[in-house]
Amino acid sequence: MKILVIEDTVTSATVVCGWLTGMGLTALHAANGEAGLEMFGSERPDLILLDIIMPGMDGFEVARHIRAQEKDNWTPIIFLTARADEKDLQRAIEAGGDDYIIKPVSEIVLKAKINAVYRMAQMRDALCQVKSKLEKANRELQRLSSIDGLTGIANRRCFDEVLLREWRRCSRSSSPLSLLMLDVDLFKLFNDHYGHQMGDECLKIVAHTLVETTQRPNDMVTRYGGEEFATILPETDAGGALAVAEAMRAGIEGLRIDHAWSSVMQAVTISVGVACVIPPRDGEAGIPALIKAADDALYRAKEGGRNQVKMSQGVIRVAGPGMANIGVLPPRL
Ligand SMILES: [Mg+2]
Repeated sequence: MKILVIEDTVTSATVVCGWLTGMGLTALHAANGEAGLEMFGSERPDLILLDIIMPGMDGFEVARHIRAQEKDNWTPIIFLTARADEKDLQRAIEAGGDDYIIKPVSEIVLKAKINAVYRMAQMRDALCQVKSKLEKANRELQRLSSIDGLTGIANRRCFDEVLLREWRRCSRSSSPLSLLMLDVDLFKLFNDHYGHQMGDECLKIVAHTLVETTQRPNDMVTRYGGEEFATILPETDAGGALAVAEAMRAGIEGLRIDHAWSSVMQAVTISVGVACVIPPRDGEAGIPALIKAADDALYRAKEGGRNQVKMSQGVIRVAGPGMANIGVLPPRL
């Protein structure tokens, strides 16, 4: 353990350093505040004994400089003071000191105080380490809580958060926001025929194919639940959304994953419903209407024979006071 003694009175410093060495500690001496700060930077001591009254920079100022330099670290400081003035002691603690010893220093008091202060410093270090581990674990939890365990893509919870965020963003910029609801066709039959493990594998492949089909960084594919996926396409008009939806449909069909019991074709396919709005200001209550519009379109895609894309039709009506009707943009195809 390395102790830095910042003390201008050489006789006193010599005595204290002698005791420290006798305790088996490494003693470093600086004869004034400036030299002390320099040694603090170069030697990184474990503890500092700091005289208050020194020519030039006094002990209070040295302590303040040290505390300003330290970010996550905290080197314990014990002030040495010839004065038993209570105001000085208060200033010493306020400047960043941890304890004080009134001079002339006794060896027993010095030893006891060093042990006590060092013990506190070690407990503080241990707490800091625990805190940093907890923060890391919390970040990991946060990440995991937004990811679907099976497919590794964003989950339903993440969908809700992102849709609200993008709704607000598009509302501010009066940009179109598109939503795709996608469903694996006749997935129950797939599970019945090939088993749930193959069903899981199928969902993973579908999920990653959908993710690969999106191109913009803010596009987000999420697992909405079961074999249903939702894709949020910010700043995308109906024409753009239809193009993405069709690329997804074709991409899944192109995988040619066997689906012997499907009445659509002998491969896994998806149906897609598309809805698009320019979110009105203060119109967050319209979010369920957007989801419902995409869902209704998905339903019609299934009714129409599956493995196809349908656009939401008509006007998405938002109930509630002060709510505007949200128009569906016509596709630009
Ligand atoms: Mg002095």
